[in-house]
Amino acid sequence: MVEDQSLVNVKCPMCETTLVTVEMGEEVKGPFQHKCGKCKRYWRVDYTKKVVTHVRGKVEKTPIKKWLLDLKTGESKPHIH
Ligand SMILES: [Zn+2]
Repeated sequence: MVEDQSLVNVKCPMCETTLVTVEMGEEVKGPFQHKCGKCKRYWRVDYTKKVVTHVRGKVEKTPIKKWLLDLKTGESKPHIH
């Protein structure tokens, strides 16, 4: 039986569309680059450092370039320096 709790939807920081679903029981290595299917921004997701970085797409409308990824929820919060 597959435990659904181990599946995490990593969401686009800007529009919250699911970028990718990862199985947290497995060791997820990174970084990987994902394109959001809705807003078409490209994101680099580093699962080791838990950082999501904006790569390209809608540059003027993406004021925040760096986000901290919560791998329990798949949501990201703005990275504050
Ligand atoms: Zn998006």
